[in-house]
Amino acid sequence: MKPYLPQNDPDPTKRKYFLERKLEEYEFDYDFLPPMAMLKDVPAVENFSTKYIAERAVETADLPINMLAVKTRGLWDPLDELQDYEDYFPVLPKPNVIKTYQTDDSFCEQRLCGANPMALRQIKEMPLDFEFTIQELQRKFGESIDLAEKLANGNLYITDYRPLSFVKGGTYERGRKYLPTPLAFFCWRSSGFSDRGQLVPIAIQLNPALGKQSQLITPFDDPLAWFHAKLCVQIADANHHEMSSHLCRTHFVMEPFAIVTARQLADNHPLNILLKPHFRFMLANNDLGRKRLVNRGGPVDELLAGTLQESLQIVVNAYKEWSLDQFALPTEIKNRGVDDAEKLPHYPYRDDGMLLWNAIKNFVSEYLKLYYKTPEDLRADFELQAWAQELVSQSGGRVKGVPDRIEKLEQLIDIATAVMFTCGPQHAAVNYPQYEYMTFMPNMPLAGYKQMTSEGTIPDRKSLLSFLPPPKQTADQLSILFILSAYRYDRLGYYDNNFPDPEAQQILVTFQQDLNEVERKIELNNKSRLIKYNYLKPRLVTNSISI
Ligand code: MN
Repeated sequence: MKPYLPQNDPDPTKRKYFLERKLEEYEFDYDFLPPMAMLKDVPAVENFSTKYIAERAVETADLPINMLAVKTRGLWDPLDELQDYEDYFPVLPKPNVIKTYQTDDSFCEQRLCGANPMALRQIKEMPLDFEFTIQELQRKFGESIDLAEKLANGNLYITDYRPLSFVKGGTYERGRKYLPTPLAFFCWRSSGFSDRGQLVPIAIQLNPALGKQSQLITPFDDPLAWFHAKLCVQIADANHHEMSSHLCRTHFVMEPFAIVTARQLADNHPLNILLKPHFRFMLANNDLGRKRLVNRGGPVDELLAGTLQESLQIVVNAYKEWSLDQFALPTEIKNRGVDDAEKLPHYPYRDDGMLLWNAIKNFVSEYLKLYYKTPEDLRADFELQAWAQELVSQSGGRVKGVPDRIEKLEQLIDIATAVMFTCGPQHAAVNYPQYEYMTFMPNMPLAGYKQMTSEGTIPDRKSLLSFLPPPKQTADQLSILFILSAYRYDRLGYYDNNFPDPEAQQILVTFQQDLNEVERKIELNNKSRLIKYNYLKPRLVTNSISI
């Protein structure tokens, strides 16, 4: 199958009939989560292969053995101690975070290289609708760091979960679930030696909607009160992670690209050849997610803090703010004010992510230059122009941040780079840490289970335990997040088939060499990191959102 742009294809009739069939096979659906564009029915060719199904079954075989052992140990009874949560891993490996989760270092590192390294943002003034002044914050925190100076220098950061506060909470068999929506302050404190230093927590306001009635909790408060405050951040972050960063901003936003590519680009279109491996199994996987993850009574309904309706609203809200250009890695980190390595020297997600971004961009550029030698080649490519048109159309993909006509190669390179990065590294960065960070409940539960304390009362150990997930929810959160992160179908830049075009194949080989170089650099980066960041190592990144 020789690649051709449509204007050069010696058999245009065959090509035309092929695409007419595709228009019937891949249809849009806007009813599942309006206004998002999704696929109506999954064509058979998109289904999981027998290799995928068999390998994934092998990778998850230890789960039933683990859960049976948990059951026979009687762990379904109420838990007495935080350590009891460690006993949920009799067969499966214990997450490393068990050793460090109570420390502020671990809490801060998770903002920079945990399951959801996309929430931290720099502030240049105090956040809107936050009723304390910087002086009041300073008084509460103490004198060890000059916060006004840090604010002026761009070294103050927040994670702000207030946009989730519309979530009132779902129910479980014994009562209500809760979603805390705190506002947390952090500061980069340099040690004075070159780029050394660390992110430290300053304060957490548990319920900013109450204004000054909701106190600021700091690391110098009662240890249990501080631990509880951090846990509230972790719960909010877990809900933001699953519904916004993971499900919406990788799985669902990429779906229209897969649909439109199938509908508008022939199999031998060079762009289709480039993108197809990065959509592998995604449509089937997303369809499965709609039927078995976000269905009534399914894991999201059972385990996340909100009602199912509320959790899905987080997805829709995240979608409304998403666009391909603003969420392209270099722009996205700039928008959050975390792109500057002078201000924030330690940010593994950014640093390793940019290595991959650049490698992908190089590859995409060299590849596309093979086929588009002049602007006329782009203009005459009527399939490509129909592709762009349908991506943005209201009766098509409804994608934002993409032009509806492609005039310059640079535009196409930007789109293809952002799509490949989102399907590969971005999804890997939020999908595969789920086991490490989100299966041990005291680190990152998906919901709170008992309104802890009213403002100002200090929690005790018992109330903390009843705040954490009960045994059944613990077992179910561990199980589902293990299943969602235990298997990698393939590896970024390695495809089942060679490119049909020898010149393109040579460019692919160069890409693979670049990825090896990235792997080496990340290993070097890891040498100076407190916690190794492995999720963006190219070997552990998959091509597509296949899980
Ligand atoms: Mn996933």
